Formats: sequence, C-alpha cells, structure tokens
Amino acid sequence: MKGGAWLIESTAADCVFTPDKLTEEHRLIAKTTEDFVTQEAAPALPQLDQHDWKVARGLVKRCGELGLFGVDVPEEYGGLALDKVTSLVVSEHMSKSASFAATFGSQANLTVLPLMLFGTPAQKEKYLPKLVSGELVGAYCLSETGSGSDALGAKTKATRQADGSFVLNGEKMWITNGGFADLFIVFAKVDGELFTAFIVERAFGGVTSGKEEHKMGLHGSSTTAVILQDVKVPADNLLGEIGKGHKVAFNVLNFGRFKLGGMCIGGARDAIGESAKYAAQRKQFGQPIASFGAIKHKLGEMIARTYAGESFIYRTAGMIDERIGDAKDGASAAAALEEYSVEASIAKVAGSETLNYVLDENIQIHGGNGYVRDYPAERHYRDARVNRIFEGTNEINRLLIPGTLARRAVKGDLGLIAAAKALQDELLGPPSMSSGDDSPLAEERRAVEAFKKTALMVFGLAMQTYGTKLADQQEVLTFAADILIDVYSSESALLRALAAHGPKASLQADAARVFISDAAGRIEIAARQALAAMTTGDTLRTMLAGLRRLLKVSPIDAVTLRRRLADEAVARGGYIF
Ligand SMILES: Cc1cc2nc3c(=O)[nH]c(=O)nc-3n(C[C@H](O)[C@H](O)[C@H](O)COP(=O)(O)OP(=O)(O)OC[C@H]3O[C@@H](n4cnc5c(N)ncnc54)[C@H](O)[C@@H]3O)c2cc1C
Repeated sequence: MKGGAWLIESTAADCVFTPDKLTEEHRLIAKTTEDFVTQEAAPALPQLDQHDWKVARGLVKRCGELGLFGVDVPEEYGGLALDKVTSLVVSEHMSKSASFAATFGSQANLTVLPLMLFGTPAQKEKYLPKLVSGELVGAYCLSETGSGSDALGAKTKATRQADGSFVLNGEKMWITNGGFADLFIVFAKVDGELFTAFIVERAFGGVTSGKEEHKMGLHGSSTTAVILQDVKVPADNLLGEIGKGHKVAFNVLNFGRFKLGGMCIGGARDAIGESAKYAAQRKQFGQPIASFGAIKHKLGEMIARTYAGESFIYRTAGMIDERIGDAKDGASAAAALEEYSVEASIAKVAGSETLNYVLDENIQIHGGNGYVRDYPAERHYRDARVNRIFEGTNEINRLLIPGTLARRAVKGDLGLIAAAKALQDELLGPPSMSSGDDSPLAEERRAVEAFKKTALMVFGLAMQTYGTKLADQQEVLTFAADILIDVYSSESALLRALAAHGPKASLQADAARVFISDAAGRIEIAARQALAAMTTGDTLRTMLAGLRRLLKVSPIDAVTLRRRLADEAVARGGYIF
C-alpha cells in the first residue's frame, strides 16, 4: 500500500504486519537486545551518569559484537541485511536504557543510515564496517544555536578549495555523542549558500567538543556542542551532492522518527510492567491499590494506548519492508522511506506522546514513590521528555502530516481531492442506512470508516478554503494532524485485533475497542474546532450536522473493558500483549 493510502482505501486485516507475526529470528534478536540492555547497559547507568564515556564506548563496541548496528547494513559492509521489522525490534528493546538508547540511535540511525542511503561505494567501504563493529562512534551534526527546527538556516560554512576539498567552520549544538564521537555527519553551506552533508573525522583536526549540557534527563548520554575550526575535509568526504544536504537530512530523519516511535512504545510497555507490579504490592486502606477503579482506569488506558501504538509501528514496518524489498541501492531505499514519511511522523508524535502519557500515569500510580529517586519512575519521566523535542519537534511533525498529504493531493496522488469531494456530496445528502452488520468488531469498523470520512472532510475543506496558503493555517493543520493520527492508530489497532487469534484475542479486542471509543471523542473535538475555524453560518451548521451523523458511535462500556485489561496486567505483572 502507498504511504497515506490507508486514508481512502480499505485494508484487509490479514495483510497487515502485527507483533503476532514476529518470526523466531525476530524474537531471537529481541532477546539478544533485551539481554544486552538488562545485563550490560542498565547496570552501567551510574558510570554513564558520571559521563564516563569509556564505558559508553565499551557498550557501543559490545553492540557491534552482537551485530546490533548491522541490522540494516548489507553483508558486504559487515552487516546482517535484515528487514526493517528487525530494526524496529532492536530499537524497541533498546528503550529500557534510555540514555544508552540515545547513544545507540545516534550511531545506528543517524550515522550508519546516511552513509547507507547516500554514501559512495568507497565511503561505505571505508566507514560502514567500523561503525557496524562499534570501533567508531558516530554523531549527527545538524542543529545550531540559531537553527533547530529551521535546520536549513544553518550558518556553518564549507569553503571550497582549489583541489576540490573543503574547509569547514561553524558550531553545532546539542549533538548526541558529541563528547566522544569519532565520526560526524556534518551539514554546512558550501559558499555560504548550498546546504550540503559531509563526513567529518575527528582525526582531521579542528574538531572540538563543547562542555556537556546539564540536561533534564538522559544524564548518561553525551550532549555537547561540536566546534569546527578550519576543518579540512577531503573532496571524497562530500556525502551526496553539493546543495542536496536537505535530502540527506530529511530522509535520515524519516527513518529516525519511525525508529524513535518504536523506542517510545517499547518504553511504554516496560513502564506498564512497573505500574502493574507496584499496584499489586502497594497497599492502602487495607488492600492493594490495583483493586481501586481509579487505578484500573489508568492501567487500562495505558495498555489501550500502547496497544494502538504498537499496532501502527509494526504495521508501518511491514509496509516499509514490502516497499524496500525491491530497493537495489541507497537512492531507491531513500525513496521508499520517503514514501512513508507521513507514517514516520505519526510514529514519532503518537509514540512520544503515548510514552509521556504512560510515564506520567506511572508516576501517579507510584504516588510519593514516583516523585523520588528510589524508584525508576521519575527518571523515565525526565528521560522521555526530549522525545517530543528532537528528531523534529512534535509541532513540526504535526505540520508535516497533513502538509505532505496536501502536496501529494495537489500532484494528483492518492485521489484525495476526489475522495473529499465525494464525501462532501454524501454528507449534504440524505443519511445512509445502517448496514446491520453484526460481525466481530462491526461497530469499531464502522467507527474507523467514520473517522476516515471526518479526516477527509476537514482535510478537503482546508485545501478548498486555503489553497496554496494552507501552510499558514497551523492550527487547522494541527487539528487535521490529530485526526489523522487517531485514524491511523485506530485502524491499526482494529486490524490487529481482527487478525488476532488465541487466548489473548478477546483482550486485544478490548484494547482496540477502548482506544477507538476514546478516539471518537478526541476526533469530534478536533473536527468541530477545525470546521468552526474554516466556515460560518449555515455552511458550518450543515457541516456540524454531517459530523454528528458521521460520528454517532454507539457508546460502549469502556470501564469494564479497561478493568479487564488492568486486571490481566496486574495478574501477569506486565504488559499483556
Ligand atoms: C538531548 C538532545 C539531543 C539532541 N541531539 C541532537 C543531535 O544529535 N543532532 C542534532 O543535530 N540535533 C540534536 N538535538 C537538537 C534538536 O534536534 C533540536 O533541539 C530540535 O530540532 C528543536 O530545535 P530548537 O531546540 O532550536 O527549537 P526551536 O526550533 O527554536 O523550537 C522552539 C519551539 O517553537 C516551535 N517551532 C519552531 N518552528 C516552528 C514552526 N515553523 N511552526 C510552528 N512551531 C515552530 C517548536 O516546535 C518548539 O515548540 C538534540 C537536542 C536535545 C535536547
């Protein structure tokens, strides 16, 4: 399926990749990663927190030995050439140690990937084997003091030399692994204008690290400025083409965002385990707090949201794998990743916000113990906050979701404009009769169809109302993004629950039903706000009547469903799927 096509096309449940379809090989690499994190990375946290980067370097080397940096890399460069689902599985399980996960991600996603996608054969041969083995530590230098979200506004300069080489001058900010990396992907402007990517070795001379930033969280990960002073970069170390640095930056972020979403969902799953265990053993008023409805509500909601997150993450990985299977070289792999940039932004935004929600409730369930350092809940909360800021802030990613779809619609892709027009006609016509479908999750299927129509209604009206000025309407775009995120999440949860079988199938259905019931409320609020910003008077009234008709979702007893989910998590002492 093409990226974004889920908005107008139906998907058969058995065509979607879900965690239930993980193979033995996937499970084996999940176990390898988990063992590494619990037995090696997590115990090293006190040293990492003290900025002992020798220990971090040792852990990078261990990941190399275990093959964890080589998942996406062809065998000729020392990698394992496995699918993107494997790569997701590794990211998800790395999340148990957030600080080291940042170090890992900066190497695996932000240094290995640009070389894979845009490196020449000689560059790949020179650098990839050493990055894959963990001999070299990598870092990605895009941000500067004056240019974070506006990354293309970078001031770092690359001056061309007569022999074709370059001299780089400038200062990069907030660079993960900045304090001890050996190899940097640096973005600089050739002749002060042409935004370009370079491969820079610390050994070239002129590269220095600033002091470690005092951060809210991720204390065990290095974040520094990287200062480039007259750094001589050979012509061979140009990455991609002069003036095409944006292609490198944005394609790398596409995949980085998707994997970050995976890490966040992995973190949410672990936190549910902490909450469930704590709620089972903590007694108040003579009984475990897990027996209180207010706590069951929290646990049930944490599970439902995480279930939806897991569902869209794996669904996206499956779609990327299907598409990337034919990609013979870096350029076609980059094009395949770009195809799913909307889904990658959804993964980033919804993954990080689900994690923040879960970690906030994790603290609440721990009460005073959640606020002190004796328990890991407060650390998780601080560590996770940055996920909404880096790899493109959630505001920027929200704008990208409908913005990218609008660009595709204008190009005639996906038939979005025709679908939106047909929907408007339908909404202005007589109400359609209910189908009387009583198949499993029939009400939820109907709801998801209604969510899609709501998204199309808001999106279509926004394109019609603002035309080429749509980008200026950030509030409406943000409402549209919120609706689209809920559409993709709801449908992914629904399809996974429909395909589920075995003892947990009915719990999966419960989780999907809770999520979809919640989403209906959120979508209605967002759609009403967006419509009221775009229309007035009779048109608005007609639209709101259409919206009410569309979103007339039968109420369900979500309280009982959440209780079932919560009780199961408490009985198992962890996330249930
Ligand atoms: C721990 C940590 C590690 C990091 N690691 C790296 C790294 O390895 N490499 C690297 O290059 N960078 C890294 N960064 C930098 C990070 O990517 C940036 O902080 C991020 O892109 C945001 O940029 P900014 O901080 O300049 O915020 P700003 O861009 O100034 O944004 C401030 C606020 O304004 C909003 N905003 C900005 N522009 C718009 C707009 N057009 N429309 C609407 N809202 C807008 C933002 O969403 C945000 O809410 C890291 C940052 C941190 C904190």
